[in-house]
Amino acid sequence: MAKGSQLNKEHLEAVNQFGKTIAKRAGFRCEWCGGDQGLRLWEYQPDQEPAAENLALLCDDCRNLTGLKSPDPKALRSLRNALWSDIPAVAEGAAIVLSRCKEPWAREAIEESFIDEALKERLL
Ligand SMILES: [Zn+2]
Repeated sequence: MAKGSQLNKEHLEAVNQFGKTIAKRAGFRCEWCGGDQGLRLWEYQPDQEPAAENLALLCDDCRNLTGLKSPDPKALRSLRNALWSDIPAVAEGAAIVLSRCKEPWAREAIEESFIDEALKERLL
């Protein structure tokens, strides 16, 4: 087996060990929108060591949003509350997705949030 895929497997196993902790933290709800469909762990920064701050429990819809370059602004409104989380994967992850929509309310929401200042500057 190639070394890369072995590392990837170990990484995924390490991520999955956080499954129960994160699900409890999230109250078995999507940590971005509060939905409960197709909940799975999502890695904020997949190139880093798995850690609770770097993981969020997200529903199908929200995980789809992370891959879209210009998401539908209506679909993003439910992400606003996530900006107030003290978990980077939840707040910063949501901020990055919100910043891809150019609506003024999205920029304002990011501006008002308490996410990392350097990230905020980069997004706005
Ligand atoms: Zn969601």
